[in-house]
Amino acid sequence: MAMIKTLLIANRGEIACRIIRTARAMGIRTVAVCSEADRSALFVRMADQSVGIGPAPARESYLCGDKIIAAALSSGADAIHPGYGFLSENADFAEAVVKAGLIFVGPPASSIRAMGLKDAAKALVEKAGVPVVPGYHGAEQGAEFLAAQADLVGYPVLIKAVAGGGGKGMRKVDHPAEFAAALASAQREGQASFGDPRVLIERYIQSPRHIEIQVFADHQGHCVHLFERDCSLQRRHQKVIEEAPAPDMPQAVREAMGKAAVEAAKAVGYVGAGTIEFIADGANGLTPDGFFFMEMNTRLQVEHPVTELITGLDLVALQLKVAAHEPLPFTQNDLVITGHAVEARLYAEDPERGFLPSTGQLHRLAFPQGEGLRIDAGVEQGDEVTPYYDPMIAKLIAYGPDRATALDRLALALEATQVAGPRCNARFLAALCRSSGFRQGRFDTGFIEAHLEALGAVPQPVDGQAALCGVKALLEAETALFREGDRTETDPWSVADAFQLTGARRLQRQVVVDGEAFKAELVWPQGEGVQIGLSGEDGVLAGLNSRKADAMTTVVGNKAYVLHRARQTLVAFADPAKGGDEHGGGDGRITAPMHGKVVALMVTAGEQVVRGQRLAVVEAMKMEHGLAAPYDGMITAVHVVAGQQVGEGSLMIEVEAAAE
Ligand code: ADP
Ligand code: ADP
Ligand code: MG
Repeated sequence: MAMIKTLLIANRGEIACRIIRTARAMGIRTVAVCSEADRSALFVRMADQSVGIGPAPARESYLCGDKIIAAALSSGADAIHPGYGFLSENADFAEAVVKAGLIFVGPPASSIRAMGLKDAAKALVEKAGVPVVPGYHGAEQGAEFLAAQADLVGYPVLIKAVAGGGGKGMRKVDHPAEFAAALASAQREGQASFGDPRVLIERYIQSPRHIEIQVFADHQGHCVHLFERDCSLQRRHQKVIEEAPAPDMPQAVREAMGKAAVEAAKAVGYVGAGTIEFIADGANGLTPDGFFFMEMNTRLQVEHPVTELITGLDLVALQLKVAAHEPLPFTQNDLVITGHAVEARLYAEDPERGFLPSTGQLHRLAFPQGEGLRIDAGVEQGDEVTPYYDPMIAKLIAYGPDRATALDRLALALEATQVAGPRCNARFLAALCRSSGFRQGRFDTGFIEAHLEALGAVPQPVDGQAALCGVKALLEAETALFREGDRTETDPWSVADAFQLTGARRLQRQVVVDGEAFKAELVWPQGEGVQIGLSGEDGVLAGLNSRKADAMTTVVGNKAYVLHRARQTLVAFADPAKGGDEHGGGDGRITAPMHGKVVALMVTAGEQVVRGQRLAVVEAMKMEHGLAAPYDGMITAVHVVAGQQVGEGSLMIEVEAAAE
């Protein structure tokens, strides 16, 4: 078969960028498909051509196989790479791609189908002699029958939706009394997420280690494995940090697992890149008879870079070559592990608030460079993290001659990563890399859940140093005071003549820090720079002669995003000095400056207002905060009533500017 000349990537974000990079290096033209929400996304900018395939929801765009195939045909593509997620494990799609005369960069539809349901996959590989997790994976689905099976399997058990994926449709059950309710909820989730209520039951492996094997097969009948990855650091059955090789992996276990994985792949006539996921009982170290098949992912895996780093191979390049019917350029004996690699998934989410996804514009996004460091990003500074898809920002992958070096490099890289705008999990990931249990290899899939507090994934007190830096930066921006003349270093701590410019020696301002209200006391002693004191309901937060913090501040409009010790603090004045444009700037969206109560509402929808006119008053910490119109115009919507409690940032009033 001929070489691929034009490749359409049926995916978005990080993995689309990753695939484009390799395709380009191989001289292959790339076509991106994008939803309306992704029209200006990085992967679209990188591709040679892009085709719109519909509205933002994946169901109406990235999951529409027919639209994607039509885009491939109209753009002259000869192959489609599905990436991971979306349609990557959809056998009907793979089949339709081939029917349309295109190459599907992945396994045959029959392999996908054979591994698509967890129960059938287990039965199939079991026949091929691969150990599977003990349990029930038959057709009978009656509630009482399943409860009896769970008793036979022995508690604790895990109920899994047979069609499940992404950690969905799984329930751990510790006691028989909880079985019925857990079953019903797993069935509901299976039906809702995958259109299939069927479940299987597994023994819950104690001290579970998730260890998976990368396999690769070609059209000529060769099949090899590229060693293991340890993905035991998980949250809600989803991977957080992955590494290769697995710590403390005995060579005998590696060989046994590799062999079992190759058997499983061969059992379904596999071609291309695939991953066999095993669960191992890590309680007494890894043993050749202590691991069990869980499922096969018939696609490129999110964490494939760690395998690339320890083998020196480009898995996407291999996928494209195998898809064009080239034989694998190596045999099992040619493959060796060199060094150690660790990957962390950087997400726009807030570990301090239950890992809530955090969307919005990335006002700042910068990664360090360094030896052994690879960054696979899906966005650039200025791009937006939208609520429609997985909020992954990037994958940070560190490599080193040994595990400790790789972990050190990854921790340093995470701590030096700058994200302003959405919250992110960089500090949490760095804490994981530095946690002693993980570093000593004493961990299983329950590690994160058991150490949330030590990892900082619980509500944290306001960072006073960061708050001070934010106030300083906002003062600078507001008055442009410190940009006067040739004083370009913009350091208010060293500015001596501030009070002459402002005409004030002492000033009180109201400040909101991460939704909490504080008073800022600004003092300009004669002949010295400004000194700032911050106090809240619980007393003094930080102030006056506080040490200068090593923080990075990004001011956007009237908000300061302060990055200090890999944690973001959001600072805003609640009493803007000018214009009344504090909460609701150019876009006319007036939002609550903090958690508080609407004590007065002065306008109704349809009313004309003038710039600076008071629209509402919010009270917090016994202080009142006026909200003013940002410009002359009309009130188009009022979303609150007087007396109502409002959360920080919630939309209160919308104003439309009058025509010029
Ligand atoms: P990996 O094992 O490669 O880390 P994940 O299980 O994290 O893969 O899934 C890869 C991507 O695919 C993630 O973005 C995940 O949300 C998505 N995903 C996985 N399974 C499904 C599924 N059944 N349906 C929809 N999305 C899925
Ligand atoms: P998904 O399709 O959602 O990836 P998996 O079957 O791969 O589902 O399971 C997801 C995760 O759940 C695994 O990585 C593992 O951490 C955990 N898990 C799965 N099966 C078991 C089991 N029998 N015992 C303990 N943990 C399990
Ligand atoms: Mg899995």
